[in-house]
Amino acid sequence: MDNQDKEVIVANAKVKIIRKNCTGDGVCVSLCPSTFVLDAENKSTVIEGSNETFDNLKMAEQSCPTHAIIVTSK
Ligand code: SF4
Repeated sequence: MDNQDKEVIVANAKVKIIRKNCTGDGVCVSLCPSTFVLDAENKSTVIEGSNETFDNLKMAEQSCPTHAIIVTSK
């Protein structure tokens, strides 16, 4: 898949999903529904250009049980 582990810009952050670690439990989608969505393979993907706050993105990163989300400042 061509967007595998792609870094996506969200507000003032860069967000990456390590797809092989994502179990599709939807925790990040519940926390930040404007930023994360599960794709057809039940893997979290990042919605480019959402205006989520950095703190919320970091909360999603820290809440992911498999550490599949990487959030860094832009
Ligand atoms: S919280 Fe982590 S494991 Fe769960 S859907 Fe999001 S990225 Fe995947």
